[in-house]
Amino acid sequence: MLAVEDLKVRYGQINALNGASIDVGQGEVVAIVGPNGAGKSSLLGAIAGIVKPAGGRIDFDGENTIGQPLERTVRRGIALVPEGRHVFSGLTVLENLKLGATIRSSAAEIDADIQSYFEIFPILSERRHEAAGRLSGGEQQMLVIARALLSNPKLLMLDEPSLGLAPKITDRIYEIIEEIRGRGVTVLVVEQNAGRALKAADRTYVLNGGVVRLSGPSSELENHNDFEAAYFGLS
Ligand code: ATP
Repeated sequence: MLAVEDLKVRYGQINALNGASIDVGQGEVVAIVGPNGAGKSSLLGAIAGIVKPAGGRIDFDGENTIGQPLERTVRRGIALVPEGRHVFSGLTVLENLKLGATIRSSAAEIDADIQSYFEIFPILSERRHEAAGRLSGGEQQMLVIARALLSNPKLLMLDEPSLGLAPKITDRIYEIIEEIRGRGVTVLVVEQNAGRALKAADRTYVLNGGVVRLSGPSSELENHNDFEAAYFGLS
């Protein structure tokens, strides 16, 4: 579904990605782990079209989407949930959700999808008329995930969904990710929390210094001798 090849991203003198390559197959949950500054957000940003790559290829559903703007990638079926839970705090939960569907035209279909996602996110249904700013951190994370799903993506990308959340809430977020996959959406998740990512993902890539140091089925990487060295950039 997604094939990223030799991707390069630069910010002035800084090389954030130095030729990173990853593949994501339809129906997979794939994780990208790595320390601060490894280039994880730059990779998701380039795929989503909010970061301009300096080179490489990004094939999505057989078309090279490199350099396409966000609006185009969203229409092609890519949704990004950026780090930091950016809700519109003065708007209600329901209004926030509807903003995720701005590329769609059928109000009836949007309403039906919102109802259907309330099955995965019952707390959002309960609080749908409340201001989003009143939600807890975990609830806001659920809201931004649900909002991204309202664009009807084939690929959902999540940047550090567990950051700053209590372990129990993080568990719930990862259960939700599994339920989303169950509805046919492919998931690419970035995490600094490597243990959590390895538990949740079918396959994991270890990124450091803007390149992939190690990759494979998560169950194999968990006990891989080189995992720590790759994660900390020692290899
Ligand atoms: P984090 O977990 O801290 O977000 P990351 O693995 O997502 O880290 P990136 O955010 O992609 O890494 O950053 C990769 C490198 O690029 C870092 O050295 C970072 O300081 C730099 N960088 C990222 N965004 C910018 C920017 N807009 N301008 C300049 N440098 C940037």
